[in-house]
Amino acid sequence: MNMISLAIHPIPVLFYIILVFVYLFLSVFLSFFIRSGFHMRAYCKKETKEKIIALTFDDGPDPEITPTILDILKGKANATFFCIGSRIEGNEQIIKRMDTESHLIGNHSYSHSNWFDLFSSTRMKNEFIQTDQKIFAITGKKPLLFRPPYGVINPLLKKALRSFNYHVIGFSNRPWDTMTKNKGRILDRLIIKLKPGDVVLLHDSVPQSIPVLERFLRFIEENGFTVVSLAELFEIQPYA
Ligand SMILES: [Zn+2]
Repeated sequence: MNMISLAIHPIPVLFYIILVFVYLFLSVFLSFFIRSGFHMRAYCKKETKEKIIALTFDDGPDPEITPTILDILKGKANATFFCIGSRIEGNEQIIKRMDTESHLIGNHSYSHSNWFDLFSSTRMKNEFIQTDQKIFAITGKKPLLFRPPYGVINPLLKKALRSFNYHVIGFSNRPWDTMTKNKGRILDRLIIKLKPGDVVLLHDSVPQSIPVLERFLRFIEENGFTVVSLAELFEIQPYA
């Protein structure tokens, strides 16, 4: 090898190594940001000037909180509930009520395990099937709306989702209602960031979502916003 090629070759090799590291870093880092669409596209926000938003609740059903949320929503707004399959047993009446009161029901995994993102694609697929079956047994409807636990999309999940024709749903307004009990702070975060076309993420697994929802519905009414369903916002089918 002559002096010229020695001087040239190390640079491209180093360049490719850096490129691989940058890719790996982005792959892991951006898994946590569903809106980045790095691994796959998710419905997070509708580009619109119309003052419409969609409301979503994750991690239920809860025997105490979810019925109260349903009471508050009644006659005012329809939401989507991304349910955890393992929480459905014993709460079948709540699922039935969501459906009869024209809310949508989506799949949010079966276990919502802390380790979900490290599960094999096969294990993830089994969780989706289990939850779909639970929902189908009560409503006769097979969900097409899916929200990844923790909003994380990694290559394992992407592979698992290939066998399903779910619409993957993210969010654009997340007030971190599970991280604080301070309802004023949650509401402030929600309102300050609120934009037309937003998908709002709340949890029917924490009691603070109850007063937050009451005050939020009042705010959107006073400010000319309308709540529409996810199906309407993105023009997608909620069930197969
Ligand atoms: Zn969740």
